[in-house]
Amino acid sequence: MPANGNETPRRAGTGKSLNSSIKTSFPLTIAENRKTSMILAGFQKNSFIDYPGKISCVLFVTGCNFICPYCHNADLARGEYPERIELETVLDFLASRQGMLEGVVITGGEPSLNKRIADLCGLIKTLGYPVKLDTNGSRPDVLGRLLDEHLVDFVAMDIKAPLDRYHPFCVQPQIADRLMESIRLIMASAPAYEFRTTCVKPFVDAAAMATIAQTIQGADRYVLQPFNRRAACLDPAFNGEPDPTLLPDAMGELKVVAEPFVGHCAIR
Ligand code: SF4
Repeated sequence: MPANGNETPRRAGTGKSLNSSIKTSFPLTIAENRKTSMILAGFQKNSFIDYPGKISCVLFVTGCNFICPYCHNADLARGEYPERIELETVLDFLASRQGMLEGVVITGGEPSLNKRIADLCGLIKTLGYPVKLDTNGSRPDVLGRLLDEHLVDFVAMDIKAPLDRYHPFCVQPQIADRLMESIRLIMASAPAYEFRTTCVKPFVDAAAMATIAQTIQGADRYVLQPFNRRAACLDPAFNGEPDPTLLPDAMGELKVVAEPFVGHCAIR
């Protein structure tokens, strides 16, 4: 799940599977990590939009367990590498920007699938940066560990549709239970968080929005994102006809539906 919701368009590339075989103590020290070979799939040095209220650096982790047809990060979702960035390169950059950058966003793909996600978060925090994690919410076990260990400062979880209507997005059994567990974890223990939904036909209409909003009732912040038709999608049909985009009036109507259930609802 990416910065931006996993739906922000990102560059494509080629690559191989993550090197996830290296795991020692937790979290690894910077010195230990400099001896390892963790590779990131992309690296955006500055962003004003991915971490609310902060100038952030965005790190892309490859691989996703979802198949959202409107995904704009198809290469990342398939486990490819738009770029190949050594962790050491990122750590050096972050060390050189202390006092200028205000946070680091880890996105994907789905970052919680990476076996070294806790190490990565720990290293970034060792450099003094708050960490924002973008997730699809499918790994509450990993999310719980990161929250317990105080390794993330902000969690952004995508909610694609009512939890019992995730078939277009993933084929995993009992996904609704895991998503609900993640929602509860986030609301109970994340230092800061937001839930967000990409509003696109035919998955999100007023009835679906009401169901989603009830599911996260009492949440601090809920963000509705319009579908961005300008970038290629995992399923090319979403770039064709009929246009699945919801126009501003329709987005506003969805916001009216969701607002009573959450502390703050915004269209981004
Ligand atoms: S497939 Fe879905 S969850 Fe995975 S990166 Fe794309 S939009 Fe995010």
